[in-house]
Amino acid sequence: METKQFKAESKKLLEMMINSIYTHKEIFLRELISNASDAIDKLYFKSLTDDSVGMNKDDFEILISLDKDNRTITISDNGIGMTKDELENNLGTIAKSGSLDFKTKNDLGEDVDIIGQFGVGFYSAFMVSKLVTVRSKAYGSDTAYEWQSEGVDGYTIEECDKSKSGTEIILKIKDNTEEEKYDEYLEQYRLQSIIRKYSDYIRFPIKMDVEHQRKKEGTEDEYEKFIERETINSMIPIWKKNKNELKDEDYNTFYKEKFFDYTDPIKHIHVKTEGTATYNALMYIPAKAPYDYYTKEFEKGLQLYANGVLIMDKCADLLPDYFSFVKGLVDSEDLSLNISREMLQHDRQLRLIAKSIEKTVKNELTKLLKNEREKYEEFYKAFGLQLKAGVYSSYGMNKDTLKDLLMFVSSNEDKLVTLEEYVSRMREDQKYIYYATGESITRIKSLPQTEMVADKGYEILYLTENIDEFALKMLANYNEKEFKSVSAGDLDIETPEEKEEIKAKSEENKEMFDFMKDALSGKVKEVRLSQRLKSHPFCLTSDGELSLEMEKVLNAMPSDNKVKAEKVLEINSDHGIFAKLQSLYNTDKEKLKKYSQLLYTQSLLIEGISIEDPVEFSNMICELMMD
Ligand code: ADP
Repeated sequence: METKQFKAESKKLLEMMINSIYTHKEIFLRELISNASDAIDKLYFKSLTDDSVGMNKDDFEILISLDKDNRTITISDNGIGMTKDELENNLGTIAKSGSLDFKTKNDLGEDVDIIGQFGVGFYSAFMVSKLVTVRSKAYGSDTAYEWQSEGVDGYTIEECDKSKSGTEIILKIKDNTEEEKYDEYLEQYRLQSIIRKYSDYIRFPIKMDVEHQRKKEGTEDEYEKFIERETINSMIPIWKKNKNELKDEDYNTFYKEKFFDYTDPIKHIHVKTEGTATYNALMYIPAKAPYDYYTKEFEKGLQLYANGVLIMDKCADLLPDYFSFVKGLVDSEDLSLNISREMLQHDRQLRLIAKSIEKTVKNELTKLLKNEREKYEEFYKAFGLQLKAGVYSSYGMNKDTLKDLLMFVSSNEDKLVTLEEYVSRMREDQKYIYYATGESITRIKSLPQTEMVADKGYEILYLTENIDEFALKMLANYNEKEFKSVSAGDLDIETPEEKEEIKAKSEENKEMFDFMKDALSGKVKEVRLSQRLKSHPFCLTSDGELSLEMEKVLNAMPSDNKVKAEKVLEINSDHGIFAKLQSLYNTDKEKLKKYSQLLYTQSLLIEGISIEDPVEFSNMICELMMD
């Protein structure tokens, strides 16, 4: 018989399996049972709408049998089965090819992580077997086929006899080695405990012929063996169990297996709701954003079950975009099995469930923030960006839902604070919630504009993400307190006397400022006396809605519509440079022109805005140096 070769990457995975030193080899059984359950699911689903299948839910089962003498374990199912092509294609390639990519990309090193956390499906059988035989008959087909392989050298495939549709996987267990005792997998109690550990919630019975002893009738102390077919698993899906039966570990194990994460989630949310929307849900807030989370490739959604039967793997309608990080599943009796994707979108029941889920997630996050601050901050570091984007998107439609979940680093202790915390400790005379924007906190702290506000003891929120200022503008205010950028407009932090003084000085120097503005030929809206500087000589600010930061962000986007903030060059009248400017205005207007340009270019540099002509700037400095 011809031996066929595996595809290259399958061979790689197989090699990994066969030579694995992974200590939890027992998971091979979980993987094979999970495949069997999937195969039954497919036929069961068909039977619900197609009478010709002729099977009831109770007819389906997974049978595990043991033959110690021949060193075999057989896993049989009466599911959908595989055709010859399917045997070749499904068992000759890696379905979850993502897992191998993952390994190389993340350089996890040992095979331990990938096998344990993701499972590697069918091939894990080779961790414990020296020969794997798969006999399968596809539902609706007359011929059955046998696939057989000893490992990397390839596989054979030929016709065989099998009366019922379904699949039978026969593992010939490896011999013991010095390091590994494979015999343990031939012990009935060991298999039972593996099944209970990993496959308890499988919805179909996993049966085993279990050997018991009983007293021989009519004797005092003679025993006889008898065999009874028993169902090993409880068949209750974890989400249908009572919370008090479950430990964090149960929830986390289920999460990692089901949603392919290798880190425990920050929180699980297990709800059973009755009323307008009746459903069970088990949801998780992951600790880390998936690598593709902030890309277009990421697909949000919860698994959707209709009374225990999976009807959709990623139901996007169940989660608003701003909670798209939530993983999990929803099971409802109110949904019809045959509902199509298109119909689901308009399903009233589904919308009610979605509403209720949104509320639940919001409440849980609020509780987390209140009671487990550290965990919330961990969550916020991973997904805060998504919440802020949620405030901004849809014209701010959801800002009220989200505003209390937002956090920003504040000048007060350099920690993340909520808006509520900020407002609660605002000073009596304080009108605004102040914020400053920049690439990093270090850069923001050194901004000239933050000086006076900080010096007067007001707390400042540090905004470092592109979306931040847009989100705050969308919010406009929090508890009636307006947001105010330290770099824009009137900060309103001066005493009436200070205001008077500035007004007078501004008028005195009006002509000079106008001259400087003209020297900058349209680049700034105004040159004026600053009210926000203390020791720094000058700074760049903006009037109007569009800030310097927003101009930067918007113009970095791929679009031909470039925007322009109304820039203002502000000069500190307490700084020596001001006197210098005044004297030049009287003695050397040409020089004042050049100095105005120099000041403006420097102010751009401070703001992190790229300058138009660095060479000209550098030449001007050199000229100055040679003076
Ligand atoms: P996965 O289960 O992640 O798809 P596997 O390597 O475990 O990856 O299985 C590959 C494919 O082989 C499955 O997707 C399924 O189509 C098929 N398969 C495996 N076991 C069975 C089975 N018992 N009955 C029917 N098909 C099966």
